[in-house]
Amino acid sequence: MRAVVTGGAGFLGSHLCDRLIEMGYDVLCMDNLSTGSTDNVAHLLGNSRFRFVKHNVVDYLYVEGPVDAVLHFASPASPIDYLEMPIQTLKVGSLGTHKSLGLAREKKARFLMASTSEIYGDPLVNPQPETYWGNVNPIGPRGVYDEAKRFAEAMAMAYRRYHKMDVRIVRIFNTYGPRMRPNDGRVVSNFIVQALQRKPLTVYGDGSQTRSFCFVSDLVSGILALLSAPASEEVATPFNVGNPEERTVRDLASKVLELTGSSSRIETRDLPLDDPHVRCPDITRAKNILGWRPQVGIDEGLRLTIEYFKKMAAVPEIASRILS
Ligand code: NAD
Ligand code: UDP
Repeated sequence: MRAVVTGGAGFLGSHLCDRLIEMGYDVLCMDNLSTGSTDNVAHLLGNSRFRFVKHNVVDYLYVEGPVDAVLHFASPASPIDYLEMPIQTLKVGSLGTHKSLGLAREKKARFLMASTSEIYGDPLVNPQPETYWGNVNPIGPRGVYDEAKRFAEAMAMAYRRYHKMDVRIVRIFNTYGPRMRPNDGRVVSNFIVQALQRKPLTVYGDGSQTRSFCFVSDLVSGILALLSAPASEEVATPFNVGNPEERTVRDLASKVLELTGSSSRIETRDLPLDDPHVRCPDITRAKNILGWRPQVGIDEGLRLTIEYFKKMAAVPEIASRILS
């Protein structure tokens, strides 16, 4: 079995590459390194079943030989990344998804794409089931990401209906863990790095907005359960994958302070425009159809992530990046 992973040098993509290799796949990791790094896959570079190709998936994809699965994960994912790269984000969600679908069609491969809870926007229904159509501001700053992913889902479903392709869509909710960039601006990495540096934890708004945090190993298990499920009508429509334990951002800040033993204060900052007030996955479909549910609680997941950031801080060139 051979898989192509776009965005494979990123946070989630690199964990996926690891698990696919463990499962016996040959893996072709394709990435333009815009937000990812070869550091994330350095340990795989000597493996004869792993290959890295630097490529922008917005451009035509040429892959020699058979491919059984295309996993399309390329896209900036952190709000600060997609706000800095709005056009690239729209292009990778639209043109990049088109090219990845084209590759899967050419190779008669299964196609699985990373969608996001952001397609629900600032939801008026909580928790969000897959049947909810969302509440997205198409012209706000986050619209570049939300609409790119909504377009990508529409494109994938069109390929399924028109070309009868085997297409799967995973709507990923906030995921955290080792290999997040310390400066990616996401709440978990920000709070841990700030706590370790004894700097104030920056809570945006009053911190009453909620998120539901999934540890990366759980997320990858959910994605692979979807990838491996036999083809059927049931698996052909999107699946929420995430941890349904919902908490406020302020509560997350307290948890990080408790687990790091840090003496940092909490400081408030302006709430970014269109920041969703609530977010929590309804994972009934993933539980019933894929037999998947998350296993790692927030304390254990945060401890593992804190350990990772502590180790990174011990490496001088990384520490200087974290401290800058
Ligand atoms: P990431 O930024 O760490 O990884 C994205 C990878 O895609 C990077 O390696 C980047 O270099 C690559 N990339 C971006 N544009 C590309 C292009 N045009 N061509 C080739 N490679 C390109 O982010 P992540 O958190 O690992 O997210 C991976 C995927 O999962 C994304 O599609 C994201 O939308 C989705 N997702 C992630 C989360 C989360 O909580 N981490 C939540 C919802 C959805
Ligand atoms: N947030 C925060 N402080 C930070 C970074 C983020 O309070 O230093 C908030 C942000 O406003 C949002 C939540 O934490 O309400 C999650 O933000 P993140 O960027 O991780 O992802 P999002 O879920 O918004 O895509």
